[in-house]
Amino acid sequence: MKKKKSAFWGSFPCVKCGYCCKKATCDIGLTHGANQTNCDFLIGTKPGEYSCLLVNKKIYPQIKMHLAIGDGCCEPLNTDRKLALGML
Ligand code: SF4
Ligand code: SF4
Repeated sequence: MKKKKSAFWGSFPCVKCGYCCKKATCDIGLTHGANQTNCDFLIGTKPGEYSCLLVNKKIYPQIKMHLAIGDGCCEPLNTDRKLALGML
């Protein structure tokens, strides 16, 4: 079955700013031992270059589906996202 994308969130693509993973670690990160904020699995050094180690290394293969990774940004107005887009 084809997954239906959100019309709203899908209009704000993820630009790998890292904001959401710094603010609150997802349940899957917590289950794997990460801290509540500034997730230990977030890798990268600046907005636009962050990524998730659990995704990259396929440590938890279902994470993309469970967190809707690729479906758009859940925090579209944050400052780090604007930095990644060169808007600030
Ligand atoms: S805040 Fe949005 S753009 Fe930034 S990493 Fe999270 S989903 Fe992607
Ligand atoms: S486990 Fe990955 S997706 Fe979840 S908060 Fe950490 S870096 Fe983000």
